[in-house]
Amino acid sequence: MNSERQLRILPFEDALRLVQNHAALLRPRGKELVPLLEARNRILAEPVTADRDYPPFHRSTRDGYAVRSSDVTNVPVSLQIAGEIQAGASAEQAAIPVITGHAVSIMTGAPVPPGANAVVMIENTSLDNKKEDPPQRVNINSPVVSGASIVAAGSEAKRGARLLAPGTKLDYASIALAASAGRLHLLVYSRPRVAVLATGDELVDIDVAPGPNQVRNSNTYSLATQILDAGGEPILLPIAPDDPARIKELIREGLDADLLLLSGGVSAGKYDFVEPALAELGAEFLFTGVQIQPGRPLVFGRIPTHADEQSSSPKYFFGIPGNPVSTMVTFKLFVRPILDALAGAQSHKLIFLNAKLKSEIKTKTGLTRFLPAMLSGEFENALVELVRWQGSGDIAATALANCYIVIPPDRDLIPAGELVPIMMR
Ligand code: AMP
Ligand code: MG
Repeated sequence: MNSERQLRILPFEDALRLVQNHAALLRPRGKELVPLLEARNRILAEPVTADRDYPPFHRSTRDGYAVRSSDVTNVPVSLQIAGEIQAGASAEQAAIPVITGHAVSIMTGAPVPPGANAVVMIENTSLDNKKEDPPQRVNINSPVVSGASIVAAGSEAKRGARLLAPGTKLDYASIALAASAGRLHLLVYSRPRVAVLATGDELVDIDVAPGPNQVRNSNTYSLATQILDAGGEPILLPIAPDDPARIKELIREGLDADLLLLSGGVSAGKYDFVEPALAELGAEFLFTGVQIQPGRPLVFGRIPTHADEQSSSPKYFFGIPGNPVSTMVTFKLFVRPILDALAGAQSHKLIFLNAKLKSEIKTKTGLTRFLPAMLSGEFENALVELVRWQGSGDIAATALANCYIVIPPDRDLIPAGELVPIMMR
């Protein structure tokens, strides 16, 4: 059966574009209202708008004195202290007018009183009589321009303005913004359900003692973790042996989900039955390999769902090479855009950073490589180097890494000191 299969092996960027183009056609399933903290890692399904101006009042950004800037052009100058305003002051407390020759003691986060147009930070002031309580006069020792150390009301956002757009992945900063707008609940998209089907006669469940030539199924767990990180809901199917009939049965089960991930059995080996099983179920193969390492045998396609199901649209699947590191890398590169689209996330580009290579890399041309690497150093002295590994089955080396070095297909020697693209894990 393997001999008849149609090969469609794409360069990395072509495969990525193809996946992105399909992702652009996908929509999330539904929406649900969740408590603010449960929205973490979810995708926002509504706009969050400003319920008031931000900041709501002219806010002092310093402890110091609110002044009229024209009073402090020639320094030092002594001003009369007309009062004190602290953060959270009432409207009356904050209403102390600053007239010419006066200053008001003010704290960070407090509203700037009428008449004042600048705040002089306390470090640039002095008191003649430190024992006086409350002090009557203050020396201003540096001039300030109008607006200094004040954030004007409404300058961060005007009431009614859109603070967060639908499609935003909710992280600590966006959750803080929603909190500041008084949102106890947020409308988020339903989590896409992603079925995970590991195949292989050698695999055992993690609660089973493996025989001498068996290995534990770890891919289901790396995939489930990556699905959860992306805001999806993993559905773990039982391990399929290398048996076409059983694989087909479990694929059918997996098609109830929004996306199906198959691990293993997609190479050209005698017992690689995943593609034929998919083909028998009517799958359309969009590609059957990508010129990358690890992960070259990756398969991407879609499959018609059964007529008796509510949705007649085809379901996407990935046949992911079983080597554990191939599984991790190809998920990040190719599964993630489809999952993001099903989750309702704004299309997100794959971003590579640059870091200085610590020791030279020798490889072969022809494939785009994503090799486990360690980013080290501190502050602006980031250095990156490959971890020693035994190839794409080496989970131990990969777990020690914290990123991947991206090697373009035309490079066989990269000298130490060169800036290389890296993909964060
Ligand atoms: P395959 O893609 O089926 O040819 O498998 C490639 C390699 O990955 C083999 O060494 C498999 O034993 C290993 N492998 C396949 N599936 C898994 C899995 N679910 N967990 C851990 N290793 C796996
Ligand atoms: Mg196998």
